[in-house]
Amino acid sequence: MHDLLRELRAIVEHERALHGDLLPVPPAEDATEAAPSPSPDAPPTETDTPSHAAPDDAGSDPDMPNYDLFGNQVDPAEDPSLPPPERIEALIPDDAPYKDADTLGEVEQYFADNVLVPIDEDRENPVFGVGDPEADLVIIGEAPGRNEDEEGEPFVGRAGQLLDKILEAINFEREDIYITNILKSRPPRNRNPKSEEIDAHLPVLYKQIALLRPKIILTVGKVAGNTLLDRSSSLSNLRDQEHDFYGIPLMATYHPAALLRNSQWKRPTWEDVKLLRTRYDQLTDEG
Ligand code: URA
Repeated sequence: MHDLLRELRAIVEHERALHGDLLPVPPAEDATEAAPSPSPDAPPTETDTPSHAAPDDAGSDPDMPNYDLFGNQVDPAEDPSLPPPERIEALIPDDAPYKDADTLGEVEQYFADNVLVPIDEDRENPVFGVGDPEADLVIIGEAPGRNEDEEGEPFVGRAGQLLDKILEAINFEREDIYITNILKSRPPRNRNPKSEEIDAHLPVLYKQIALLRPKIILTVGKVAGNTLLDRSSSLSNLRDQEHDFYGIPLMATYHPAALLRNSQWKRPTWEDVKLLRTRYDQLTDEG
């Protein structure tokens, strides 16, 4: 009798261990109670299997961290299953006071009221951005110049007037789109942005893009293209192709100020903006 019981017990333990089908299973609700699923926020333990850690629908729940096959949490910015605004917001430091802002106005107010780097103290006006907050196209330049600093609006000087003409040629009005810069304060004598200035202002731009949710981005000039794509390429290597900015198509072309200095770049710019218009129409079902 003892031997029989011992044998039965061994069978039960084996079945339990291997989740066999010889044992009666409790109804579904009881099973859930008996074995609560891990909290979505709980980090994976060493004993968590990948199937536990990476449910099929990971990514559909914004609060559910995604894990790779080895149980490591995937960087949300690099997770293509997440929508672009979530990926871009993941690039903003957690302690940035505007990280959870719901409107562009809140971020603009924060930026106007704070000095992040010395150029913010020396500016006449912050140059946050202008245009339609629902725009499908966002254009990003480098930094405000003297005219922009005086007026508090991007691209209002000579380069801005040329930008308006370029936009007109591809049937865009300034009001249809949103225009901003990498830096939102004028560097003295229009010198190149310093890396610490870019580091301080870039998360503000990330927040703008996350709130705007554009269908496509156009960068003008080397600084804007390279900063957003985290590269250090020549403009001729950046242009004439579509890049991916955390799930948003991004195209790069010459800066209008460069076209004023060197007219040989007008033709490639025209090619780039025609391509931009074609992609915009495809992405927005226009045209
Ligand atoms: N150049 C830029 O990059 N941005 C402006 O707003 C004006 C000139």
